[in-house]
Order: sequence, then structure tokens, then C-alpha cells
Amino acid sequence: MSPSSEPILRFAPSPNGRLHLGHAYSALFTARCAETLGGRFLLRIEDIDRARCKPEFTEAIFADLRWLGLDWPEPVWRQSDRLPAYAAAAARLRDMGLLYPCFCSRATIAATAAATDPDGAPLYPGTCRHLAPAESERRLAAGEAAQWRLRGAVASDRAGVLTYTVAQPWPWDRPHIRYARPDLWGDVVLVRKDVPTSYHLSVVVDDAAQEITHVTRGRDMEAATDLHVLLQFLLGMRSPLHTFHKLILDPAGRKLAKSKGSKSLAALRDEGWAADDVKRALGFG
Ligand code: GLU
Repeated sequence: MSPSSEPILRFAPSPNGRLHLGHAYSALFTARCAETLGGRFLLRIEDIDRARCKPEFTEAIFADLRWLGLDWPEPVWRQSDRLPAYAAAAARLRDMGLLYPCFCSRATIAATAAATDPDGAPLYPGTCRHLAPAESERRLAAGEAAQWRLRGAVASDRAGVLTYTVAQPWPWDRPHIRYARPDLWGDVVLVRKDVPTSYHLSVVVDDAAQEITHVTRGRDMEAATDLHVLLQFLLGMRSPLHTFHKLILDPAGRKLAKSKGSKSLAALRDEGWAADDVKRALGFG
């Protein structure tokens, strides 16, 4: 909890496309929780991915959420403004001996991985973990692009048994304790080649900086919590209470996704849907 113990919740979309019904559900769910808990609802723009995020999508997020009747305090944090904070966190982990540079390409990893992580992506086989420090230094000094990975096993060992608190289906329901399994993720990338941070590092740093007390996010992000709890431990941060909400599925039972062309809120609006129709359809009527 924050020092004031005021509940603080956030909706944190990435402006890499238009919002769809899945986002609307997550935003309305989070706002409903904040209201019921008598807390604050923050909006945070997760725009570290320079190639995919666009200012016009950020503007559209503001417009779509206002259309749904949501309101949030200004200024809205944008992760692209927060790179020094992520660099400081990465430097801390590096000083603790927990990060190493990795020069492998996606293709090499895909070709050499023998297992998958909880998201189903190739599990990094640890190739660069064994590079001699002098060799890594030489390649960095020569300007070779590197991503920085967490020494997962060392970090997990240092943390010992890690737990976090989950309350389902709403944050005020009876909480239960879960064991975190960050070891399943291997050596995750915390500092990417193309941007000097990563989703996992940024989200943990910002949730702590904004004193988020309750994280509400879709069930598809449940597994990543194990990693976030580990980072919170390593960086001396308090772990918020977690609630994972249901996902909105398409008629074929698949999660809605920008990449699969799920219909945007803007398209529904153009078809004549009112904000109240969206809310009713999602159970927030
Ligand atoms: N930015 C992430 C997304 O749009 C979600 C943030 C979070 O809840 O961790 O999927």
C-alpha cells in the first residue's frame, strides 16, 4: 500500500493500435475497482516500443476512454518520458551482478532453444551467459548491439521463496497467497536492443513509482507476474495486490487482439454503438 494507504489503480495501454472491447473491459474493470475501493484510477501510456507506438494512437486512447465516460488525473505518465528511471533500475541490477549482455539474434535463439517460456516463446538457452567478461567488453566496445538479460537462476536463488497476493474475481474478495515461479522464465531480456528498457522492467518501475496498490490486468498476463514479483524483490519494491480479470473472446473463442484485426471501439462507434451499449455488452451497464 502507499504511505497514505489510498488505493491507486492503473490502466496501462500501449498506443500501438486502436483500443478494442478487450481494452474497454480492462479499463472499465479497473475504474470500477478504483471507485468501489474509494481510490484513484490512473491512466499510463506504455509507449516504449518506438517502432509500433504512435502519437495518434495515444490521442485516440484518450478520446476512446473519454467516450466511455472515464476520467483520470493529469499529467498522464508516458513511459517514453521515463527512460532515465528504467536506466537507473537496470544499472542497479547490473551493479548487483544480475545482468549480462547478450548478442544473440532472435533467429539464433529460435534455432537453439530446447524449451519454451510460460508465454510459449523460445526459452533462452543461456549462450551469452557463459561469455568471458573480457570477450563481452570487447564486443560492447566494438559497438556490437546487445540486449541485457537477467541472470534468472542467480536472481531466483537470491530471492528464495517468493509469494504474492491475489484476490479474485475482484480485488476486495478474499485474498490468497501464491508462490511465484520466476525460474520458469529463464534469463529474460530486461534491456532490449532497440529500446533501453523492456515491458517487464518499465512496468515494475512505474507501478512502484506511482505507488500502485492494486494491479488489475487480464488473465493472459498472469504468468508474467512471477517475473514482476522477482524484480520487485530485487529492487526493494513492495508488491501490489493482484487481480486477473477475464478476457473478452471473439466468437471463435480467441482473445481479441489488434494484430488479429479485432474490431476497434472507433469502428463500433461508427456502426452506431453508444458508449452505454459497450458498457452493457461488457457487463458494466
Ligand atoms: N501495456 C500492457 C498492454 O497494453 C499492459 C500493462 C500491464 O497491465 O502490465 O498489454
